[in-house]
Amino acid sequence: MTEIQSLLKLQELDMERLALETALEELPVQREIDKLQESLSVLQERLSSAGFELNRVRKEQKHEEWTIKDTTMTIDSISRKLYGGEVTNPREIESMRCRLNTLEATKRKLEDEVIGLMEKVEALESETAGVNLEIQQKETEVCKLIGKRDLEIAEISAKLKSIAEAREKLQVQISDSLLKKYEQILKDRGAPVVVPIRGNICGGCHVALPSSIIILAKPNNKVVRCENCGRILCWQE
Ligand SMILES: [Zn+2]
Repeated sequence: MTEIQSLLKLQELDMERLALETALEELPVQREIDKLQESLSVLQERLSSAGFELNRVRKEQKHEEWTIKDTTMTIDSISRKLYGGEVTNPREIESMRCRLNTLEATKRKLEDEVIGLMEKVEALESETAGVNLEIQQKETEVCKLIGKRDLEIAEISAKLKSIAEAREKLQVQISDSLLKKYEQILKDRGAPVVVPIRGNICGGCHVALPSSIIILAKPNNKVVRCENCGRILCWQE
């Protein structure tokens, strides 16, 4: 293999390495993981606000239950006085009856409210349980995907390592000056730097090459560049 042919091979390795590096950065499985983690954080937020609301409603329910208890005690004590014969003044009796009616109405209203709150608690508990389950499922999924991703990363890394080794072996067959030229052209105009001659056409810019250039390039033993695009030409049988 001549220097120019080795350089063409080295370029193939470089392009392969580049493609693998891009693949590593844009792993579809990583995007899946990112999406899942995003929806997980939305679920966590939902869980925490549902938990917060559940706490608040439970407190409110407890508070109302205490108020019902207090109201019941007041009703009982007024009833005892009213029906125990302690009070004889008709005006006082009337006012106590009135108070009793109000208290009983309040108690009924509170009891209805407690029922409403209990329903709310139930709904929030079931929402919390549902969200918790969804979180668990998504976390399991994320774990699986992370395993898959790490495997893919390991596979690509192994390929990259073997490419690096192959490149090192090729590199010793190429002079430093040619390598430098390759790196410079690569930096200036991008890949590919070395192009095959197809028929009498430059594989880089597809312009017909003069026969004098083809004769020069054919032995593949020196750097011959396309006059149009400046790429290094490599003759292929
Ligand atoms: Zn060209």
